Amino acid sequence: ATTQWSWNIVVLGSGESGVGAALLGKQRGYHVFVSDGGKIKDHYKQELIDNGIEFEEGRHTEERILMADEIVKSPGIPEKNEMVKKIRAKEIPIISEIELAYRFKGESKIVAVTGSNGKSTTTSLIYYICQKAGLDCALVGNIGYSFAKQVAENPKPLYVAEISSFQLDDIKDFKADVAVLLNITEDHLDRYDYSFQKYIDSKFKIVQNQHEQDNFIYNLDDEVITNKLKTILLTSNLLPFTMKQEPKKGAYIKGDQMMLKVNEERVSMNIYDFAQTGKHNQYNTMAAGVAAMTMDIRKEKIREAVETFESLEHRMEPVAVVRGVEFINDSKATNINSTWFALESMTKPVILILGGTDKGNDYSILESLVKEKVKTIVCMGVDNTKIHAAFDKIVPIVDTASAHDAVQASFDAAEKGDVVLLSPACASFDLFKNYEDRGKQFKEAVKAL
Ligand code: ADP
Repeated sequence: ATTQWSWNIVVLGSGESGVGAALLGKQRGYHVFVSDGGKIKDHYKQELIDNGIEFEEGRHTEERILMADEIVKSPGIPEKNEMVKKIRAKEIPIISEIELAYRFKGESKIVAVTGSNGKSTTTSLIYYICQKAGLDCALVGNIGYSFAKQVAENPKPLYVAEISSFQLDDIKDFKADVAVLLNITEDHLDRYDYSFQKYIDSKFKIVQNQHEQDNFIYNLDDEVITNKLKTILLTSNLLPFTMKQEPKKGAYIKGDQMMLKVNEERVSMNIYDFAQTGKHNQYNTMAAGVAAMTMDIRKEKIREAVETFESLEHRMEPVAVVRGVEFINDSKATNINSTWFALESMTKPVILILGGTDKGNDYSILESLVKEKVKTIVCMGVDNTKIHAAFDKIVPIVDTASAHDAVQASFDAAEKGDVVLLSPACASFDLFKNYEDRGKQFKEAVKAL
């Protein structure tokens, strides 16, 4: 008997995207081995077992991994990981899970959304518009459901994908038919040798394989993006969105009108008809609206969707009004820029809950908005020294180290007509499991008042 040669892949990391990649690889005839340096969650382990996929956890068996023809690396694993260094040294190709999904997606189309902030919101809005328009599509990627798993288990003619820079780092042929780049501000620099340029280059991989027939929707008001664009040659169909000028095509907002222009089509809408508030959501809506128009979705469907799309949990989410004090959960604001937009959208006096794990924040960016709108800052974190240094001379600051205490302190400081805004500008890992846990604990504490 002859043994049939088979493509050997090793999947590093066994979370949502690792398991998705393993399932797809296995389904398409690859020989798959999954290796996770930590513990694999039970339900993922079960999925691997059910599908007859070999795996290991708590270690990386070098001899086995270095025999692979190709490695699929999960986005959470950094380059400085010892195993990754050895793989690189042996020059075994490393791809990301979205590259594997792309390889097997067939004729289906991809709308891919990236940026430092607003990815989940914009991806969900595009998906929502597509659903309203009756398109057969799936919502995949960083937002929670593995693109590869979707391709394996329930392929669709259209994928609306949220794509992080980590997922873009190891693409080769991946191409978006419609690429959306929302904004680029400093984030995750620990993964990019503390080089902002490297992070920018990573985000721009979203257009690296595009041609004339592909659309690139980008923020014309973002200087990081426009400066980078000056240095590269792109053949993509460019569709900018802006609040500062009237481009020939793309989208703009002038006064209270949003205008979308793609090919000969035009859609205009009053921004006060948007279901979501805040300037950041006006940007997200322009991007989503243009994306929808490139797919020839009817104007009425776009309007209807934008008028009814509710904000996602933990993003400027209204929680409750207690004795005239409004509480807003923006736990997903894990960097300065998202907190800036949260404050910018506030029309009442604010008690601001800030703090957590610092990601190299420059708080001076918030200074003028804090002066203008914030009555009290309530710190919720283990180490609040940077927040004190930035704002001690500007507003009263109260220190707390739990969601319960932060909510109580905020309520004590608030008067009828004020807003308590949890928009921490920091990661949550000092006190919470993740931003969802932080948001949930905040909401529970509010409900208990
Ligand atoms: P991402 O998926 O990129 O993290 P989200 O849609 O989850 O983005 O939003 C993350 C945070 O950023 C939330 O606090 C949200 O209110 C804020 N935000 C949303 N869109 C934007 C934008 N275009 N610019 C800046 N901040 C934004």
